[in-house]
Amino acid sequence: MMRGLYARFAIAFIGIASGVLLISTIAFIVETHYHFNLYQHQAMDSGMGSAAFDNHFEQALVQSVLWSAILGIVFSILLSLVVAKKVTSPLIHMKRIAERMAGGELTARTALKGTDELSQLGASLNYLAEQLQSQEQLRKTMTADVAHELRTPLATLKSHMEAMIEGVWEPTPKRLESCYEEIERLRYLVGDLEQLTEMEAPHFKLFLNIENISAIVEHHVEASRAAFEQKEVILHVQSEPSIQAAVDKLRIGQVIVNVLMNALKFTPQGGKVTIEVAREERMAVIRIIDTGIGILDQDLPFIFERFYRVDKSRDRKTGGNGIGLTIVKRLVEAHKGTIDLTSTVGEGTTVTIRLPVQ
Ligand code: ADP
Repeated sequence: MMRGLYARFAIAFIGIASGVLLISTIAFIVETHYHFNLYQHQAMDSGMGSAAFDNHFEQALVQSVLWSAILGIVFSILLSLVVAKKVTSPLIHMKRIAERMAGGELTARTALKGTDELSQLGASLNYLAEQLQSQEQLRKTMTADVAHELRTPLATLKSHMEAMIEGVWEPTPKRLESCYEEIERLRYLVGDLEQLTEMEAPHFKLFLNIENISAIVEHHVEASRAAFEQKEVILHVQSEPSIQAAVDKLRIGQVIVNVLMNALKFTPQGGKVTIEVAREERMAVIRIIDTGIGILDQDLPFIFERFYRVDKSRDRKTGGNGIGLTIVKRLVEAHKGTIDLTSTVGEGTTVTIRLPVQ
């Protein structure tokens, strides 16, 4: 196939060049011969010809044309081979690279330079390889992360169960409850993973409607008020009355609840969480400000990454799996909005969500 393309190009070039040369040579020889014959007959008739001169002259013409045709064909063959090589070698190179990629060698790259279409094709191939490589990397880390997340609760469950089966432990309600909590954690993890996969799917769609952002926020604030009262954390809302934006009500609700519950989770008793809703230029801005434990600067860049938790042991107790903010960010970005998180340890955290208004 590789040789095939080169051979086909070479044969095509050689065929065209030799064909043109042969046709013109044959036409020249036939015409010259015909006219010399005609001329000789006429010259004989009038008795003023010189047969030897005429023959030599004809031979000279025909031979020079033959020689130039032969040299021309040789030259065109050589040139065709060079040109065919030049045209086909980048294609053959790309084909080899594509084959290596298909064989799993995703680090293979084409080394084509320039700005012509073939170089662009090479660049596209490299881009494709990069995308495949990052997807592959993502898949690998995702699998490793999920396995890691599953391992701890399963190990805890297994040791608890074993101890109870072997009679080392009495199955007291407290111990059963701790097993139940581990199962719940697994259930949440599976649910969150499902959501994450759903959002990454190409057919993920938002059901956008013009909604009153302030009303959505107030609805969810009221729904979570009991949890705040139970932990004795003050919940305060400050909202401009009506800010309209095209949003998916359920998804934005999910975003608000998630951020609000984080604020509650990481704010100690006696603390305060404030939700502000305002319009700033062409954006609806929702700010959730807590007076909680805050996040270290070194952790901030990773906070939206899946499975990222600042303190794994602490979050084993609080039940977080580090997927919440990843889902929140994806949802906000699906609305063409932005989410920022600023935090000072010991002072608190502010999450700012900006959504474009109509
Ligand atoms: P989780 O489900 O563990 O809460 P998230 O993705 O929602 O996961 O959050 C990731 C991590 O960010 C949390 O484990 C926590 O350490 C930190 N975090 C999130 N929100 C806050 C906050 N308001 N105050 C302090 N830390 C926070």
